Amino acid sequence: MNFNDFQLNNHLIQAIQQCGYTAPTPIQQQAIPSILAGRDLLGLAQTGTGKTAAFILPTVQRLMAAPGTQVRALVVAPTRELAEQIHAFTQTMIRQTGLRSLAVYGGVSKSAQIAKLRQGVDLVIACPGRLLDLHHDQAIDLSRVEVLILDEADHMFDQGFLPDIRRIVRQLPLKRQNLVFSATMPDAIKHLAENILNNPATVRINPSRPVQGIAHRLIAVAQNQKTNLLMHLLSEESMATTLVFTRTKHKAKQLAQKLVTAGFKATSLQGNLSQNRRQEALAGFKSGTYTVLVATDIAARGIDVTGISHVINFDMPDTAETYIHRTGRTGRAGRLGEALTFATGEDQQLVRVIERSLDTSISRQDAPKLPEVSAPRPHPVAVVKTPAAMHRVPRESKKSSGISRPRRGCAVQTNIFGLPAAAPPNKTKKRMPHDRACVAAPYTAPDSGTTTNQVRSMRATKEE
Ligand code: AMP
Repeated sequence: MNFNDFQLNNHLIQAIQQCGYTAPTPIQQQAIPSILAGRDLLGLAQTGTGKTAAFILPTVQRLMAAPGTQVRALVVAPTRELAEQIHAFTQTMIRQTGLRSLAVYGGVSKSAQIAKLRQGVDLVIACPGRLLDLHHDQAIDLSRVEVLILDEADHMFDQGFLPDIRRIVRQLPLKRQNLVFSATMPDAIKHLAENILNNPATVRINPSRPVQGIAHRLIAVAQNQKTNLLMHLLSEESMATTLVFTRTKHKAKQLAQKLVTAGFKATSLQGNLSQNRRQEALAGFKSGTYTVLVATDIAARGIDVTGISHVINFDMPDTAETYIHRTGRTGRAGRLGEALTFATGEDQQLVRVIERSLDTSISRQDAPKLPEVSAPRPHPVAVVKTPAAMHRVPRESKKSSGISRPRRGCAVQTNIFGLPAAAPPNKTKKRMPHDRACVAAPYTAPDSGTTTNQVRSMRATKEE
């Protein structure tokens, strides 16, 4: 099957070719015909499957058929980054069409968004809060919306957005096309989908399986050695572009600062940053200014950075779903990637829960005996405050472990596998693909699989 089979407008076909997409992904193959036929759709698909194009292409085709100046398509997304990303893709698709799109989210001035809305916008991609805010100010008219798309509905539920979603839906005309995408189907989303969707087509693309092409590894490490281990791995394992996940905003910020001090090109992406700083961090990571992005789960969903070679769970994710979404940031669209998870003794139970939920065991290794932390090789655009900082061994925060610098032979104090501390593992140096261009890689379809039971969150982590 190829994109011509959908009989899309020539402008869209050209835009698709410019992105380098040669064949539709499974979700595109299954969803696009139904959406083009005007049906409601429930898409059970994790990020990385190509779902954005699956809903944007037929929606743009529909809008092109009858141009207007009203908001006729509304995409609601849980995070600003995801809204921006969908908007960027939409802009590429509508470049030659005369249609206009706008991303609407908080953290930036309302007036620019209001001005654009006044000029006329066909397609709005919005986060719920700012959208309601603009509607309250009568700056946006939702009464002409023909297509409603809820992206990452389960994530919106996690974020507590469902009441907002219901408020938004009440502002829309009753007669409209509805598309709901979700990686998982907790009861709340099932009910929401039942309320919103009318005789929907259902497309299920392996909603709860880790993305294929990712090598998964668990590394047993003591809590107080995590930072040293991270620096060791970043220095020794040829990690081209690495996304590191921490549990809290504070830790993401602190860890990124430590990495910068140690000479790594690192930054953080977390909810305490202003929207401009968040965009700057993400753009810098995409462009290669930063090779390490330390993030909270705000970055786990939807964020599409091509060529992430490694995902590191510095802190264990709380659910199997979060594990899948975090690790799915690498191995995107058929590429290879590696996911490493640091696990302390406390994480033992969570590891078992995640493995049971994924129905697979993750390969394990003990942390290597950590040498003195070696600073990375100097880099032409390294983000380093002073030359001396390149070689400084970072101190752990006073609150953390009490161990202020790495000491030989004391790396592994806790082994989550009940084994004595092991000798350093064989290091396999890997060169990962590092292509940042608009994705043109052959798409590898994930296995079809069963929905994993939602694992109960074992720790409170909500923070964004
Ligand atoms: P999404 O699930 O929409 O976030 O898409 C994940 C990645 O797949 C993005 O980098 C897209 O550019 C890429 N992608 C989407 N559709 C295709 C396609 N048909 N062929 C190759 N890559 C694609």
